[in-house]
Amino acid sequence: MAEILVLAEHSGESVKKVTTELLTLARRVGEPSVVWAGAGADAARERLAEFGAETVYVAGSEDLDDYVVAPKAELLAELVTQHAPAAVLVASTAEGREVAARLAVKTGSGVITDAVDLSDGLVAEQSIFGGAIIVQSKVRAGTPIIAVRPNAVAAEPVPESGRGAAQVENVSFAATDVAKSAHITERVVAERGERPELTEASIVVSGGRGVGGAENFALIENLADSLHAAVGASRAATDAGWYPHQFQVGQTGKTVSPQLYMAVGISGAIQHRAGMQTSKTIMVINKDPEAPIFELADFGVVGDLFQVVPQLTEEIRKRAE
Ligand SMILES: Cc1cc2nc3c(=O)[nH]c(=O)nc-3n(C[C@H](O)[C@H](O)[C@H](O)COP(=O)(O)OP(=O)(O)OC[C@H]3O[C@@H](n4cnc5c(N)ncnc54)[C@H](O)[C@@H]3O)c2cc1C
Repeated sequence: MAEILVLAEHSGESVKKVTTELLTLARRVGEPSVVWAGAGADAARERLAEFGAETVYVAGSEDLDDYVVAPKAELLAELVTQHAPAAVLVASTAEGREVAARLAVKTGSGVITDAVDLSDGLVAEQSIFGGAIIVQSKVRAGTPIIAVRPNAVAAEPVPESGRGAAQVENVSFAATDVAKSAHITERVVAERGERPELTEASIVVSGGRGVGGAENFALIENLADSLHAAVGASRAATDAGWYPHQFQVGQTGKTVSPQLYMAVGISGAIQHRAGMQTSKTIMVINKDPEAPIFELADFGVVGDLFQVVPQLTEEIRKRAE
């Protein structure tokens, strides 16, 4: 079966959810091999095998930890030359897209970014104009490089009997001086409370313009904390400065696909839907029964969020006791 290279996104030995999504897609179109840049591969092998990785190319070189994206693109280019894979999949994150673009130039290949699905024949699907139009496209030059949006597909482990071998192959790699021109001098861990990361959370509670002000976002945070959920926001709320932009959900924000998405005081504009419509269960709290978000809702409460949210939070807390 054709080999598909998957560039792992990981934090040390912890495999990011998007990597398991990429492996799920890679299995559909060939045999997945993971490219692991940096330390932590040994501890991650089992997780990678669970999602069908047959081979794990490990490049533990310091060049991959101490410099920004360019060495990763060089590493992938070397592996593409050596193994002639049928495609390379990366996450469509800021870093992944830059790696994809550099790799495309190095290998003379076509690149597709922001793919939301991949099917037989390496046909990639993109959702554009806020999800109003679906585009199907295929790379026709070189090795297809496809950057897939996090949370676009559900990660599915393979059954126990069909697990990948996750055979480690160490790759000796040294980046060129050109790739080493931007050096990481310091790493500052962003302060984050106890809440899960927005794109990885299984429950997300988002607030919109209906929340009415920055100070009222405490209501959304309390509800989120009662469910061990992440907090999200509509663009109306982030543009107003009520909540930081990194928590914006939607076309120009993050894409989330949790088990439960709660939209509080959000109308359901197409650009917001683009970032949350694949959530498994959607619950809405909105005082306007005609709000378009109700079209997506599995459960909806028509009511004033200032009355509904505190009661809901209290009930959830009581049940958790
Ligand atoms: C190019 C482009 C990109 C965009 N990208 C994004 C994006 O990534 N994410 C995004 O979210 N938007 C995005 N937008 C903006 C989008 O079009 C909407 O303007 C925005 O989503 C509206 O946010 P909202 O639903 O919070 O506000 P509104 O549309 O104003 O809705 C507020 C809702 O709150 C309800 N409400 C009010 N008070 C209460 C109350 N007390 N209790 C209960 N309900 C109440 C109202 O009934 C209403 O339905 C983009 C727009 C453009 C043009």
